[in-house]
Amino acid sequence: MVANPASEAVRFCRKCNLFKPPRCHHCSVCGRCILKMDHHCVWVVNCVGAKNYKYFLLFLFYTFLETTLVTLSLLPHFIAFFSDGEIPGTPGTIAATFLTFVLNLAFALSVLGFLIMHISLVAANTTTIEAFEKKRTSTWRYDIGRKKNFEQVTVFFNMLHYCQFVPISFNLFAINFM
Ligand SMILES: [Zn+2]
Ligand SMILES: [Zn+2]
Repeated sequence: MVANPASEAVRFCRKCNLFKPPRCHHCSVCGRCILKMDHHCVWVVNCVGAKNYKYFLLFLFYTFLETTLVTLSLLPHFIAFFSDGEIPGTPGTIAATFLTFVLNLAFALSVLGFLIMHISLVAANTTTIEAFEKKRTSTWRYDIGRKKNFEQVTVFFNMLHYCQFVPISFNLFAINFM
């Protein structure tokens, strides 16, 4: 999709002392402008933007899988905790198992919420920051259809289907963001 230059006001970042391309936002933590900035993530200690958004999605996906797997593995021990029978293990290991189950369940549910939110953002070709801008416009100029919106993030969707869930990219500069 080609943005109409006439409809895009030229923006200038006074902190970087540079012109800002469309969909660029200044991150006060990183101290620079980030293309298609979504948010500054404290968990990955970096900005999430155009170049690393796919890896952020995979980070959420695999964290969800890992926490769900641990939760399901510990579920029989958690159920046994409330039964009348004797539970094997010392009080320390039983307490650790209980706490691990509760923490993993809480992480799995919260990460699932984030994952669903970000998939819906990708489907609409918007970021967390732009979601507020999008609400003010009737048509979102960057929305080019759900499949193409996903392709912008995953880049090589058509070339290598089986690599979708591997955190690699063969062509970082093929992102058609405008
Ligand atoms: Zn800047
Ligand atoms: Zn940042």
